[in-house]
Amino acid sequence: MNHTMIYADHASTTALSPKALEAMLPYFTQGYGNPSSLYAFGQQAKSDLEKARAAVARCLNAKPEEIYFTSGGTEADNWALRGVAELMALKGKKTGHIITTAIEHHAVLHTAQYLEKQGYEVTYLPVDGEGRVDPAAVEAAIRPDTILISVMAANNEIGTVEPIAEIGAIAKAHKVLFHTDAVQAVGHIPVDVEAWQVDLLSLSGHKFGGPKGVGVLYMRKPLRLPPLIHGGGQEKGRRSGTENVPGAVGLAAALTEAVENLSAESVRLAALRDKLIEGLTKLPYTKATGSLTYRLPGTASFVFEGVEGEALLLHLDAKGICASSGSACSSASLDPSHVLLSIGLPHAIAHGSLRISLGPDNTEADVDYMLNEVPAVVNYLREMSPVWDKENQKPTWVL
Ligand code: PLP
Repeated sequence: MNHTMIYADHASTTALSPKALEAMLPYFTQGYGNPSSLYAFGQQAKSDLEKARAAVARCLNAKPEEIYFTSGGTEADNWALRGVAELMALKGKKTGHIITTAIEHHAVLHTAQYLEKQGYEVTYLPVDGEGRVDPAAVEAAIRPDTILISVMAANNEIGTVEPIAEIGAIAKAHKVLFHTDAVQAVGHIPVDVEAWQVDLLSLSGHKFGGPKGVGVLYMRKPLRLPPLIHGGGQEKGRRSGTENVPGAVGLAAALTEAVENLSAESVRLAALRDKLIEGLTKLPYTKATGSLTYRLPGTASFVFEGVEGEALLLHLDAKGICASSGSACSSASLDPSHVLLSIGLPHAIAHGSLRISLGPDNTEADVDYMLNEVPAVVNYLREMSPVWDKENQKPTWVL
């Protein structure tokens, strides 16, 4: 890897923290027993897995029995939505209504669309120009047949933090199950399943210094969703498959570390983030996207008019900067991100998006470097752009 590289894409994934790596290593070579084996060597792995579960529970203010390890955030989201639908079907409600938002991650959105094909009705709530969901709109959308509300805790593209505790109180008052995709929130902002009054919560290890391929679905007792994955009956019969012991141990170590460091690290990151936002929005025809108040500490996101996001990323890559753009054609479609369209940006502008997400390894020097390089690349691309009026230094759509 290029050692001059600045990694500023922590919302996409993070490096494994050294503590998490250290905690995991013995389980590959010495403590590799199967937790289901009856001999002591297997039972040691089982006991260490349960310690990891308890540590995760402590970080979320949950009980260990409410923590189920999964293969990641995507599986946890799928399980939450499909599991609630199946649970209700088992109770005789073969169809029903689900409330979610227009800005969810595809792990939720595509699962909701899948359930629509099965006969469920889904309300996709709009968000305001900052990407915030209105709790009153959630309440107004509740119907007698509503089986689930699913609202993400923080958005992965624009960093907006949602009013989860307010929505939790509404869900509870109406006795509707409430799921939150907290993949971007856990380890970055305080997360408390009691304060939030959530019934289900998804998280993913690699977003806060844990390993890839392991996540958690929190399930409030006595709620017991039917399994998504059938087999040998691990995880109390709810999520089969030989347990990923090193993964669970690494996730727990990384989460414990992230939560311990959260108050100091979030202040440090927010200062760097705000320096980036202040610096880059000095460019003309440039806007920060998402809420400036309710915001993940490490995420800065922008749109630059007259610039194409993918070209921006490639040129930043050439300068050693790893960042991300919501305009990436991830699904082979040329449409810009559903999130940027949902906050009301026109297609042409949504195409020029950039997300810079900072993490523990980023320094003020990194930010200063980006404050030099990003404007240089933006200006360079604008000079070449067919939609940039060079003479008047404005996008062609501005009269
Ligand atoms: N939900 C959100 C908000 C995310 O940002 C992500 C990952 O980008 C996921 C779910 C899926 O997590 P994973 O890819 O670890 O399964």
